[in-house]
Amino acid sequence: MKITAILERRVPISRYADPTIPPGGLDTSAVAVVTDVIKDGAPVVGFGFASIGRFAQGGLIRERFAPRLIAAGDALSDPETGNLDPDRAWAAMMTGEKPGGHGERSVAVGALDMAIWDAAAKAAGLPLWRYLARLLGRDEAAASEPVSVYAGGGYYFPDGDRSRLADEMAMFRDQGFTRAKIKIGARDLDSDMARIEAAAEVLGGPGNLSVDAMNGFGRDQALETAAALAPLGLWWLEDIGDPLDFDLWSEVAAAYPHAIAAGEATFGYADAQNLLRYGGLRREKDILLFDIAHGYGLPEFIRMVGLAENLGWDRAAFWPHGGHLFTLHAVAALGLGGAEVNPHNFQPFGGLTDGAKIANGKTPPPDLPGIGFEGRAAAFSLFRELIEDGA
Ligand code: MG
Repeated sequence: MKITAILERRVPISRYADPTIPPGGLDTSAVAVVTDVIKDGAPVVGFGFASIGRFAQGGLIRERFAPRLIAAGDALSDPETGNLDPDRAWAAMMTGEKPGGHGERSVAVGALDMAIWDAAAKAAGLPLWRYLARLLGRDEAAASEPVSVYAGGGYYFPDGDRSRLADEMAMFRDQGFTRAKIKIGARDLDSDMARIEAAAEVLGGPGNLSVDAMNGFGRDQALETAAALAPLGLWWLEDIGDPLDFDLWSEVAAAYPHAIAAGEATFGYADAQNLLRYGGLRREKDILLFDIAHGYGLPEFIRMVGLAENLGWDRAAFWPHGGHLFTLHAVAALGLGGAEVNPHNFQPFGGLTDGAKIANGKTPPPDLPGIGFEGRAAAFSLFRELIEDGA
């Protein structure tokens, strides 16, 4: 099995479901990896994208990583199964890349890696969670169980913020979510405390709510906010300050009695190792958010899970960032704590398959072959357009 073509497109995405609110300038890369395997009369094509919250990586994909995959030809397949081997593909993409200076190349590699997993699982005729669990020798029955999820959202609304936030939380609750995450840090502490109170009330208490400061706090603001939040007993406090300021993280961890969540902006093994060694995080309570697609994809993420386990962490501490289908498969197959879901932000990629049921804060991984973007009409039509335009 080999890759015959790779198509890529920059796609704008918005934090808001409401198209009248300015989207904020975010975009991502959608990719389609076309293979030489024919199923049902058509080539198997894997779909992926560069996750959510960073930017499109068209230059790196087109100029560096896609040509290496195409040039590798049959060397990308597993000699035993003949199927595309994501580990071999990963090594091909990283040919000639030096350690350190990661920049956002990890995002470009992660986008392609997602599509490669989708293609490999489709070629095997399996949903990704089952394909991955089988490949890693994990319990497939356990992997098929509903996954714990929470709703990501809670961005600041330009008008009527508190009431619209409460409506958003009520919508999540009515969809079957029991826990959610909102943003803080962009307004003064009193305003944030009021929006936390409004959201927590809808969700049945602050223990069902996590808050995300989007890495925006300096030392003083981080400590002041942590002190103000401590009596609430929130589910977790996320992305407090600069991702590489380990002194700040350590200070907050020493002062704050409840869970803090870190790692969303930590891309790859080497940076994760530094965070876990020097960030002052507490294995018994803190949460690890590493985004799989942002951090060199699933082969690297699996190494990061191994690293954390070797340092005494439990897999339940992992709640990977992203809020989309790919993350859900990985959480199910690897037996992690749970997954973020973006029910209405960052379309067409945020969220689950159309009509997926969430009950008591859990949802089963989809049973479609591969990742299952085909079960998400808006995403699939975008990918289909990408192939038709590239053909
Ligand atoms: Mg975050």
